[in-house]
Amino acid sequence: MNWDLIGHEWAVQLLRGHIVQNNLRHAYLITGPSGVGKKTLAVKFVQAINCEDPVEQGIPCQACQTCLRISRMEHPDLFPVKVEEGSTQIKIDQIRELIHRFSLTPYVASRKIGLLINFEQANSQAQNSLLKTLEEPPGDSIMILTATSANSLLDTITSRCEEIKLNTVPISISRNGLEHIHGIPADQADFLAHISGGKPEIALHYHRDPAALELREILLNDHRQILQGNSVERFSYASKYEKDSLMVNKVIDTWSSLWHDIMHQSGKSRAPIQNIDRSTEIDQIVNRVNLGTAQKTLNIFRRAHSLLLDNANLKLTFEDLLLQLPRFENL
Ligand SMILES: [Zn+2]
Repeated sequence: MNWDLIGHEWAVQLLRGHIVQNNLRHAYLITGPSGVGKKTLAVKFVQAINCEDPVEQGIPCQACQTCLRISRMEHPDLFPVKVEEGSTQIKIDQIRELIHRFSLTPYVASRKIGLLINFEQANSQAQNSLLKTLEEPPGDSIMILTATSANSLLDTITSRCEEIKLNTVPISISRNGLEHIHGIPADQADFLAHISGGKPEIALHYHRDPAALELREILLNDHRQILQGNSVERFSYASKYEKDSLMVNKVIDTWSSLWHDIMHQSGKSRAPIQNIDRSTEIDQIVNRVNLGTAQKTLNIFRRAHSLLLDNANLKLTFEDLLLQLPRFENL
């Protein structure tokens, strides 16, 4: 049944059904939180459409030349579009180039496929320039868009696509997939399934890149220090990352995941703890805050996150966040 994807089995069934019934749509929009597996689903879907030697109809072998070229994004009839290095937006020229390529006949496959990754990063000019192609795609071509949510795109874009809405994956399914699809030892699979918060691609990122796990450790230690630190220490921490938006976003993600746990624990929720390696620390903080403080703190992170999405000043936003966090002696 599966495409060796962790979770989202309903989506695989649905898309596989479109292939088997020869009922492919012209445009798909895969939405969901970052790290949940949107791009992976899209790639497996493209493999399933094109595989030379499918296991069954709609199940790609993932080993033939075509499948391999697709997974490397090197297939001549697959056109990936994403933010170019050094830029923060998908630009109109990239969309124009895609439309031009779509107007030519396919090289080897029966159809051309455009894969537009994180399309919420396209400015409205670029989004508008795609509308006509989405409405009248040449031949049998297909556009697959991914985005964090449909709300982040123009209505005119979303209304022309079939939306596949992915949610975070339950820990047990994530653990199982990490162990049995990716061969990660059970203990490590369990740990990664927890700390990735139901986002399998994040778990795999931690698995493949030990430096990312180390960084998480460092940031969680910093958090502990900052909660005990005065405003001078907090200003000094802010200045460390004042020009590095990627790091500030990582800090916000990592620390807010801990406050999620604190909020759930202080609200006596039965939701599993994400940062299972930090349960002692979480308990210590839970003993010192009430649910209201936990929610308020989590909102500080949410506000900073959305301000940064709106291109607010990085240094000021980060300083403001650090100064608003509660302070504890002897944590
Ligand atoms: Zn294949």
